[in-house]
Amino acid sequence: MTVKIRLYVEHPLGAGQSVPLTRDQAHYLFGVMRQATGSEVLLFNGRDGEWRAQVAEAGKRGGTLAVAERTRALSLPPDLWLLFAPIKKARTDFIVEKAAEMGAARIIPVQTAFTNAERLRQDRLQAHAVEAAEQCGGTFVPQVTDLQKLDRVLADWPAGRKLMFCDEAEAGAGRDLSDAHPGPWAILIGPEGGFSQAERVRLAGLPFAHVVSLGPRILRADTAAVAAMTLWQQALGDWR
Ligand code: SAH
Repeated sequence: MTVKIRLYVEHPLGAGQSVPLTRDQAHYLFGVMRQATGSEVLLFNGRDGEWRAQVAEAGKRGGTLAVAERTRALSLPPDLWLLFAPIKKARTDFIVEKAAEMGAARIIPVQTAFTNAERLRQDRLQAHAVEAAEQCGGTFVPQVTDLQKLDRVLADWPAGRKLMFCDEAEAGAGRDLSDAHPGPWAILIGPEGGFSQAERVRLAGLPFAHVVSLGPRILRADTAAVAAMTLWQQALGDWR
C-alpha cells in the first residue's frame, strides 16, 4: 500500500519512538481517513526529517504511532521572511498557506498605516502553515508570528538582512533583483490600501531596502505575495 497521509507532530522522531496522537489527529486518521491498526503514515516535526510510522493503537480519542525509519532528511527553506499586512480573513489564510508552500522560513504579519487591523488569530494561521507543509511534502514549518507594528519591526531590524520592498508606486518601473545578492532576506507586501507616502519615503531610505516593482499592473496583496516570492526564489533562493 502506498503511504500518502503526512502528519505534523510535535513529538521527537527517531527509530523505535512511540508517538501519542492528539484527539484531533486521532479523529482525522481513524474517523476521517478510515485508517486502522497497522496503517502506515508519514510523520515530520520540522526538525528531524520525515519518518515512516505505523498505527500501533487506534481509538476514538487517541492512539499511538510506532516510528520505523526515516524516509527523508530535513530540508530547510532559504532564510527568507515574508512580511505582509493582513487583509480579509480568507486572503490572509491564502497568503500564509502559499508562503509555506513557496519556502518562507518565517511569516510576519505587520500592521502598516493603511492596515485594517482586525485581531489576528496567530494559532489559526500557524495551523494553516502546518497544513500546507503536510500537503506539499515539506519537512519544515515556518513560524507565523503575532501581528507586529511595521515601525517596530523596522526599528529592530537584524543586521545583514535585506528587504525586498514591493512598492505599488513603482509598478511598471522595471526595478528588479538583478543587482541583489543572496543572504538573509525579507519581502514586504502592503495592504489593499497600499503604503502611505510617509512609509514609502522611510522604507525607500533604509540602507537594507531594495525597492522592487512587480510588473506594470497593480496586483492584489495575495497575488503580490506569491509573485514576489516567485521572483525572489528564482533570483536568490533555492530554485536555481
Ligand atoms: N491600493 C493600492 C494597491 C495596493 S496592492 C493602489 O491602488 O495603489 C497591495 C500590495 O501589493 C502593495 O502594497 C505592494 O506591496 C504589492 N504590489 C501590488 N502590485 C505591485 C506592483 N505592480 N509592484 C510592486 N508592488 C506591488
